[in-house]
Amino acid sequence: MGSYKEVRCIRCQKPMETAYYDSCPYCKAEGYNLNYETIYDCTGKRLPEKTDESEGIYRYKEFYSLGENAPYVSLGEGNTPLHKLNRIGREIGLNHLYMKDESKNPTMSHKDRMCSLIVSKALADKAPGIVISSTGNQGAAAAAYAAVAGLPCVVFTTPNVSETMKTLMQAYGAQVFVTPTMSDRGIIMEKLVREMGYYPASGLLSPPIGSSCFGVDGYKSIAFEVFEQLNNQVPDWFVVPISYGDTLYGISKGMKDLKEMGYIDRLPGLAAAEVFHAAERNLEQDNEIPIEQPGKPSIQTSIATGWVTCQTIKALKECKGVARTSNDEEALAMQKRFAKTEGIYAETASCASLVVLEKLVAEGRIKPDDKVIVLITSTGLKDPGTTNLYLPKVPCIEPTLEAFKKAMKDSYGLEV
Ligand SMILES: [Zn+2]
Repeated sequence: MGSYKEVRCIRCQKPMETAYYDSCPYCKAEGYNLNYETIYDCTGKRLPEKTDESEGIYRYKEFYSLGENAPYVSLGEGNTPLHKLNRIGREIGLNHLYMKDESKNPTMSHKDRMCSLIVSKALADKAPGIVISSTGNQGAAAAAYAAVAGLPCVVFTTPNVSETMKTLMQAYGAQVFVTPTMSDRGIIMEKLVREMGYYPASGLLSPPIGSSCFGVDGYKSIAFEVFEQLNNQVPDWFVVPISYGDTLYGISKGMKDLKEMGYIDRLPGLAAAEVFHAAERNLEQDNEIPIEQPGKPSIQTSIATGWVTCQTIKALKECKGVARTSNDEEALAMQKRFAKTEGIYAETASCASLVVLEKLVAEGRIKPDDKVIVLITSTGLKDPGTTNLYLPKVPCIEPTLEAFKKAMKDSYGLEV
């Protein structure tokens, strides 16, 4: 017997039966564009024993909404390593810094946890295909899971999406399209959903209301895994790079489940790393419905938005939350520093979490002995073109020590 109860509107709390990717009809009538949340009762439940590594996120099946017998689509997602960061931890001023390495998922990002459940839901609902609007990671994940489910997948993306990301999505068999503007992506995606019955693997509405509530629950597994990897302890802080904030919200749901089960007696602090103050200002202003903050083009494509969902604000409020920004220069500098000190080449958007963490330690908000988890959501290999902006051109040299020493100095600034 699972712990899932029902789906409710996040605002008016009315239970909903259908169209979970659309706004609540009651609130919509009052002008609110809002999403649903899945409701669980975890009282008396226990986390299952770890018996088989390959189970991944489906070890926690009873904490999702699709039931025991849904046609689950899996590529072995989840069960990612928690790795202690000693060197950069010391530099930042922390004694217990860990990274949850989500680049170890099948399509190299945390989005696999959500897209696995979304495509499973589409299969259960007998949808003829998947449609998604994405800047990259979520599109790649949706394409891979649609492939293994045998469903067509259509991706609408932005003109500046990296070549690698485009290659990845097309290699998984998705049909990828660029539209002239962001709003055009939404218009055509909505037509595929409403007129062709395709299942949306990303939010359908603008202002955004978050991804499918059934899929967001996949992120609860991050909270469960980290709790177990810390030998059944709650961390003091989770630092999470956010776009609209589905991941952060999903982690908070997992932590609340753990509290309800009696494993923990407090929730961790949640820190959001963003680019344009969307969570920070909406939290400060205590906006019930978040207001868009101005943005501009950014290389941190996975998180470069001026929007945040009300679920994210709710999660931050419940978990002594805080949000800070990372600009492009800071993210690139951190990408280089992280790779050089820890041997981890992470996506610039992931490095934003380390930028923000360093700011929060300097502010005294996060203390030296706090146990901190940074979520590294994806690998730098998804967008090597951006990294190449700061790397020196590789010199071609004659096989002499003189030529080697000259090139070491000219290209790398090193005297040997
Ligand atoms: Zn409502």
